[in-house]
Parts: sequence; C-alpha cells; structure tokens
Amino acid sequence: MNERITHADFEELLVRQRHEPLFTDDATRLQAHLATCKRCRRFDAALDAGLKSLASQPVAVPAALTAATRLRLRRLSAELAEAATRMRLIVGASLLAGSLGLLTARALWLGVDWLGRQWDVPVGGLALLFVVVWFAPATLGGLAAVVAHSRSAGAWRVPERRQS
Ligand SMILES: [Zn+2]
Repeated sequence: MNERITHADFEELLVRQRHEPLFTDDATRLQAHLATCKRCRRFDAALDAGLKSLASQPVAVPAALTAATRLRLRRLSAELAEAATRMRLIVGASLLAGSLGLLTARALWLGVDWLGRQWDVPVGGLALLFVVVWFAPATLGGLAAVVAHSRSAGAWRVPERRQS
C-alpha cells in the first residue's frame, strides 16, 4: 500500500520529533521534504518560535499552593519513613522470635521429656505440653499483633492522598 504523504503528515512528524525520536525512514523523508517544501519549513520555524515563547513565560504559582504541596510531601515522606521503620521492626522481631524459638526448642523438649519421665506422662501428653508451651504463645502473640495492627488505620498501606 503506497499512500500519498501530505504536508499534514510532515507537520505531524515535525511535532512528534520534538518529544520522541523518529524512525530513521521518517526522519530521512522529513529532511528531504523540508529541503524542498517552504510551507513545512515555515511550520517548523513557527513551531520552534511557539515553543520558545511558551517556555519563556513565567508560570505564577500561588504561594499557598506551594506551601500546601511542600507540607503534603513532607507528611507523605514522614509517613513512608514511619511505615518503613515499622516494617523493619516487625521483620526484626519475627527473625529474633524465630531464631530464639529454634534455639530453645531442643532444650524445652528435653525439659518436657524429663518432666514426662518423672510423672510418667504418655508421649501424646508431652507433645501437647510442648506445643502449648513452645508454639502457642508466639503464635497467639503474633495473631494478636496482626489483629491490633490491622485495626490501626492504614498501617499496612501506603498513605493515601488527603484532601486538605
Ligand atoms: Zn510540506
């Protein structure tokens, strides 16, 4: 399909090349066209002049808007830092609890085993005691922490935009 390329197509290329690189074919075709077409050269020059004029215009931003934006950014930054600290604490506490659990499991099992032999408790009872003493407190504590944390608003989320 060989479509006829119009001035409008070249004008579109002139606009596009100002914000993205053109394909080599398009760039070559455009340069060849600009060498022979006065109308498109004028459009190119007008585009340049218009963009320069726009870029030189001062943009007045109300001081209140600047201050409010800075305040919001500071608040958001503080909230993100707080969330990161909270997450580091949770990860650290989890690692510590896990490590201590693993380190103490053998000693606790030996203790439970000794008690079981003293009182002649069956193995099932010992296993239950071991689970209750070693596993249950950390698990229940963890669940309680998760419940308490999920009740505090937005604790697991990135802070949302505020309207104020
Ligand atoms: Zn042209």
